[in-house]
Amino acid sequence: MFATLSDRLADTFKNLRGKGRLSEADIDATAREIRIALLEADVALPVVKEFVAAVKERARGEEVSQALNPAQQIVKIVDEELVEILGGETRRLRYAKTGPTVIMLAGLQGAGKTTLAAKLALWLKEQGKTPLLVAADLQRPNAVNQLQVNGERVGVPVFAPEPGNGVGDPVGVARASVEEAKRKLHDVVIVDTAGRLGVDAELMQQAADIRDAVTPDEVLFVVDAMIGQDAVTTAQAFLDGVGYDGVVLTKLDGDARGGAALSIAKVTGKPVMFASAGEKMTDFDLFHPDRMASRILDMGDMLTLIEQAEKTFDQEQALKAAEKLAGGKGDFTLDDFLEQMQQVRKLGSLSKIMGMLPGMGQFRDQLENFDEREIDRIQAIIQSMTPAERADPKLIDGSRRARIAKGSGRQVSDVNQLVDRFFEARKMMQQLARGGGMPGMPGMGG
Ligand code: GDP
Repeated sequence: MFATLSDRLADTFKNLRGKGRLSEADIDATAREIRIALLEADVALPVVKEFVAAVKERARGEEVSQALNPAQQIVKIVDEELVEILGGETRRLRYAKTGPTVIMLAGLQGAGKTTLAAKLALWLKEQGKTPLLVAADLQRPNAVNQLQVNGERVGVPVFAPEPGNGVGDPVGVARASVEEAKRKLHDVVIVDTAGRLGVDAELMQQAADIRDAVTPDEVLFVVDAMIGQDAVTTAQAFLDGVGYDGVVLTKLDGDARGGAALSIAKVTGKPVMFASAGEKMTDFDLFHPDRMASRILDMGDMLTLIEQAEKTFDQEQALKAAEKLAGGKGDFTLDDFLEQMQQVRKLGSLSKIMGMLPGMGQFRDQLENFDEREIDRIQAIIQSMTPAERADPKLIDGSRRARIAKGSGRQVSDVNQLVDRFFEARKMMQQLARGGGMPGMPGMGG
C-alpha cells in the first residue's frame, strides 16, 4: 500500500532538491504534482483539495522563504499535513473507569471484523488485560465458529449463544456477555457484530440495538482499506446509521492505493485507531498518524521497526553487535552477519521490514522479489567456513573458496558474492555506527 504515492511524492521532492529559493512557479508545480499523486492514490477529492491548499499556503509563507533549505521545508510541511489528515495524535483506547470496558465492532461482511476481534484480543492480552470475545454475529452461518477458532488461537475465551438458546438474538447475547464478563472478571469485552455485503437498514438497526443494549465505551468501525473510495462511503453510512468512536483499517498489507486510509479520518472526523496488515494474529497495532506519514514519505517507520525489533531481538546480542560497531574496530564477522540475517528473518517477512527503513523505497522491487531461502543458502556457505575464516574473511583464498562452495553445495561465484556482500554490509554498518546516516536517504538529511 502507498507504494505509488511514495514514489510520486519522492519524484516531486527530487525536482525541488538543490533549489535555493522557490519561485511561485516552483510552488505551483509542486502543488500540482502533489494533487495528482493524491488523486491517483484514490484520496477523496475534498481531502485532496484541502490538503493541497494548506501545503500551498504554507509553502508561500515565511517558514519556507526563511528556511536554509526550502525543499526540505516543503517535505516537512507535507509530512505535517499528512499527519494532520491521518488524524493528528495517536488515539489510544479509552478504558471504562469501573466495570469491564466494552468494545463493539461494526462493519461490512468481509471487512475483517472477526479476524480483527481476535487480533485486538491478543493485543489487549499482551497489555495485561483479560479480554472476553463475544460472538454477536449470528447472521453469517460460520461466524460464531470462526470466532471460536480465532479465540482459541490467541488463547482468549469466546462467549457465544448456547445452541438452541438465544440463537438469533444478537442483542441478548451481547447483553448477557457483559454480565458474564462481570462474573468472570474480564476487564474488556469485545463484541463482534454481524455484517452484510452492503449497507442496509436492518443491519444498521441491529448494530444500533446492540450498541444501546451494551453502551460500549468504544464503537470501532472496521473497514477494508482495499475497497478504495467505497471505504469512505461506507464509513459515512455507518457513522450516520450506528455512529462510532474510531476506525480500524484492515488489509493494509494489500496493494490498494491507500486513498481510503488517507481520507477516512478527515471525511468522518473520527480517528483511525488501529491498523491490521496481514493474516497473522500479530499483524496488528495502534495506528500512529505520524509514523504512517513518515512511511508514505519514505522517511522510514523507524519507531515501529524499533518496537518490533525490541520484541524479537535478543537484547544482549544486539547490544554486543552495537558495541562492536560503535567501536568501529571492524571486527564485525561473518558470524555476526549471519546472526543479523537470522534476526531479520525472525522479524517477519524481509520485504515488509525493509519497507520500513528509510531510503529503501528505491529498492522496493528487488525486495519484493527477495527470496528468503537466500538466508538458508548464505547460512550453508558460512557454516562451511572455518571459525578463523568467519572471523576474518580475508583469509579465504581461491582454493578455500572452491572447498567452501563444494562443502555447501553452491557455486564458487556464490561464495564470492557472499564475501563481497559481507564487506559491503560491514562498510555500511560502520558508517551507520559512526552516525553517518543511511546512504541514499532522500530529502530530509540526517
Ligand atoms: P468479517 O466478515 O468482517 O468478520 O471478516 P473476516 O474476519 O472473516 O475476514 C475476511 C477475510 O479477510 C478473511 O479471509 C481474513 O483472513 C482476511 N483478512 C482479515 N484481515 C486481514 C488483513 O489485515 N490482511 C489480509 N491480507 N487479510 C485479512
